[in-house]
Amino acid sequence: MAALVGAAWMPFDIVAGAELAAAGHMAAAAATIVAGDAGRHVAALADDAFEGREAGSRGGRAAGAYIVEAIDHLGLEPAGDSGGWYQPFGSMRNILALARGSDPTVADELVIVSAHYDHVGYGNASNSYGPFGFVHNGADDNASGVAGLIEIAEALQSMPSRPRRSILLAFWDGEEKGLLGSYHFLRVRPEPLRDFRIAFCINLDMIGRLRGDRVEVYGSRSAAGLRALTVAVNNRSGAKPLELAYDWKIDPDSDHYPFIERQIPTLMYHTGLHDNYHRPSDDVHLVNLDGLEPVARLTFATAIAVADDPASPRPFRPECRRESQSSQQMLEATAARGKRGRWGIGSRSDAAELQGPVVVRVAADSPAARGGMLTGDRIVMIDGVPLVDQDDMVRRLGDAGKRVTIIVDRRGRLVQLDLNEDAT
Ligand SMILES: [Zn+2]
Repeated sequence: MAALVGAAWMPFDIVAGAELAAAGHMAAAAATIVAGDAGRHVAALADDAFEGREAGSRGGRAAGAYIVEAIDHLGLEPAGDSGGWYQPFGSMRNILALARGSDPTVADELVIVSAHYDHVGYGNASNSYGPFGFVHNGADDNASGVAGLIEIAEALQSMPSRPRRSILLAFWDGEEKGLLGSYHFLRVRPEPLRDFRIAFCINLDMIGRLRGDRVEVYGSRSAAGLRALTVAVNNRSGAKPLELAYDWKIDPDSDHYPFIERQIPTLMYHTGLHDNYHRPSDDVHLVNLDGLEPVARLTFATAIAVADDPASPRPFRPECRRESQSSQQMLEATAARGKRGRWGIGSRSDAAELQGPVVVRVAADSPAARGGMLTGDRIVMIDGVPLVDQDDMVRRLGDAGKRVTIIVDRRGRLVQLDLNEDAT
């Protein structure tokens, strides 16, 4: 039967080269991210005193000052203009903090972890579903992401050594007015960052409503192997892995979009829309503060994995912009055709995740069916060895004895299946 794979023997080498010692330090640092601290930041940022944090307003500027105060003592490098934390544009301000990488050969490559801190102020017909004229506190949108990012900054600074690439923590302003802060950053690089190349971006927007452990993941097709990377990170933590809902659509609805436009591989985590979205009722008491902790930890671990990634720089996949939910359904849908072999597994390869063929058919009464395999599973390992690609899978399943142990990625969680050809 299906069993959740425990942390004790996780296949670390799915993210090739990740070392156990580094993983240990990473886990200790991730453990500094706690719900209580994140919750305090959400409560502070979503207080009426900030008047809904509209970009350029006094409340928005006060929120910026709060963030600077929260990160000022951590020992990060200010990466804004004039030696400060802020990158001003008009009446708005991005806030930029740099953790320089430890490997001189790749320290000029930047992994950006970002969240927008502005919201819609008192709301109007163009940015709110109403009622207008009341403070829109934006506790989920996006005090939650900012709180996570502040916690990530602290976790990063608690590591005994820095990851190989540099990490830039970016708090964007003006997102609600049209992604203004992230667009500005990409157009005008602040002086301290002129010599860096942007390798990757991880964006957080609305991570405060975790329901049933389900986190939406956007951008996983923007470079090859990002699903495998995030699945490995998700399953490596000691805690129960989250359910990762990979969504292929890429909309211009948050700060991941300008990076995708610039052909920079980008991931975004999001815990889903709700009835209080862009309404005055997006308030602290509705935020799942306990849920912030695992999402922020996942984000931190993803950032470290990318910053240490031996496979980087991962080339951007332009195809990601043409892929959609319907191409996703086509890939993952049950197919009548296809060889199913003696185990009863029909699979398709996936151009973005060659090492993780998708199960599109499980023959009735086959060893795969009896072993609990489901369509939509992605085959990650056979008998303890990661796959190279679908051909490798077909060959190895053909060569296997009467029993085979398969690890699949099922909605972002690794599940072990024991298939037995003789059992009935
Ligand atoms: Zn919003």
